[in-house]
Amino acid sequence: MSHLSVHVPLDGGRAYDILIGRGLVDAVGAQAAALGAKAAGIVTDETVAALYGERIRASLEQAGLRCGIIAVPPGEASKSYACYAAVCDRLLELRIERGDLVVALGGGVVGDLAGFAAATLRRGVRFLQVPTTLLAQVDSSVGGKTGINSPHGKNLIGAFHQPRLVLADTAALDTLVEREMRAGYAEVAKYGLIADPGFFDWCEANWRGIFSGGPERDEAVAICCRAKAGVVVRDEREDGERALLNLGHTFGHALERLTHYESARLVHGEGVAIGLALAFRFSARLGLCSGQEAGRVANHLAMAGLPTRLQDVPGGSGDAESILDAMAQDKKVRDGALTFILARGIGQSFIAPGIGRDDVRAFLQDELR
Ligand code: NAD
Ligand code: MG
Repeated sequence: MSHLSVHVPLDGGRAYDILIGRGLVDAVGAQAAALGAKAAGIVTDETVAALYGERIRASLEQAGLRCGIIAVPPGEASKSYACYAAVCDRLLELRIERGDLVVALGGGVVGDLAGFAAATLRRGVRFLQVPTTLLAQVDSSVGGKTGINSPHGKNLIGAFHQPRLVLADTAALDTLVEREMRAGYAEVAKYGLIADPGFFDWCEANWRGIFSGGPERDEAVAICCRAKAGVVVRDEREDGERALLNLGHTFGHALERLTHYESARLVHGEGVAIGLALAFRFSARLGLCSGQEAGRVANHLAMAGLPTRLQDVPGGSGDAESILDAMAQDKKVRDGALTFILARGIGQSFIAPGIGRDDVRAFLQDELR
């Protein structure tokens, strides 16, 4: 089996590899055995369990590991206290010990939930990420952020807990619905926009191969993982540079909040796509980058079938003031001024603290006209 690999050189014995390639789901058993585990608790959702659960079980059992599958309902609602408690208790029933493994098989929901269970079970057991959505392969499975939601907000309960290994089976994306594929693609394009203009050029030329499952898909996942790994190694706890990964997310999160996280209206990646286009148009308005570059960003996202305007939000985004209020609930607000990730051009993003509400309001009002 040929695959690509990306090393994440964290200190303190926490370095790990990300393996990327078609068919890696069947390598989980051998990899888990190589880590010395005797048992594995597979945490997944019902959709993914039906597609890949038995293959992973077979792979683990063939390698001589005892294992059990814990499947939660698909969707964001499973990042809850109730599911977290149920998963932990099932892992204990399965007698998963410190030397064993929790295997997160699924999208970002499962990765965050299983990772948080692994971080806290017996004060920390090892875990392996097997991401099965494009978003999870290029973003959530790498970097060690785990957690669940509280009624007070998303991801408010969590821990940093790095996986021991990430196995990104790019063939698993063949069964992903088109809309989830596109949503993940917004995060792919984001890496080019943050700091890699050459990669954005490459995306413009090669994005179709990512969707169709050609070698471009593996290559794109590897490039994104390498970019994220670099940022995480330099700034694991988001004291600085890691915030750049939030390009497009200040606007995006506000739109998700205003559509009440109803996936029928907007999924995360769609909010990010609109947010990326807005971040570049806002940068152009502030005289930081050219309008032509902002246009190029929006054109590419639209070409890939993603929304790029506030008017694209099904049911409407709300007015400028409600978007501002929704943004102000984000962590990135200090004394009424907002912190944005803005850009001096494609691949030239930077952290811009102290952006005034009035500038943002005027921009949003023009966008809504
Ligand atoms: P998700 O996990 O809900 O998966 C999306 C849908 O695709 C689900 O219905 C799932 O059942 C289905 N699915 C998954 N794999 C499939 C496959 N191979 N074939 C068919 N269907 C499949 O959503 P997501 O977009 O992967 O992740 C979103 C979550 O990730 C959010 O909760 C977000 O907060 C989190 N996240 C975390 C980080 C981090 O650093 N920890 C980063 C970004 C996002
Ligand atoms: Mg994101």
